[in-house]
Amino acid sequence: MAIIICPTCGAKNRVDERGKTMQPVCARCKTKLDMANAMPEAAATAGGKPVVVSDATFARDVLEAGTMPVLVDAWAAWCGPCRMIAPAIDQLAAESRGRWVVAKLNVDENRETASRFHIDSIPTLLLFKGGQLVERIVGLQPKAELEKRLVAAAA
Ligand SMILES: [Zn+2]
Repeated sequence: MAIIICPTCGAKNRVDERGKTMQPVCARCKTKLDMANAMPEAAATAGGKPVVVSDATFARDVLEAGTMPVLVDAWAAWCGPCRMIAPAIDQLAAESRGRWVVAKLNVDENRETASRFHIDSIPTLLLFKGGQLVERIVGLQPKAELEKRLVAAAA
């Protein structure tokens, strides 16, 4: 399931991504909704904050997020550079406006996913689109650099 936030009244509408050909309308005000603005349920629920993902939810929230790019920040509590990049990650989540999803994965608590994607240095940022890993960015990055890659992936 995915969510489309109505551009007119702000209501959250639950839609089925499989119904690509249907034209959904807002349940509250009947504004026509654009499936291109559908976002994964977890991202819509996070309300502008990064989605916290785990071994249990990674497939659903990242790999099955549809065509929207998902940036995963792989971090750990003891990692100083991770704390330095965290404000940029928070801002990218707040400024996504339905264009991308930002997620955080604690590698100490989710070793299965960390090892599956060979995360051996943190922070590592993984960019997924359509269930595929499209980019791996290791180390501290300026926010503008991350934003540039997200904008490109969302185009
Ligand atoms: Zn509406």
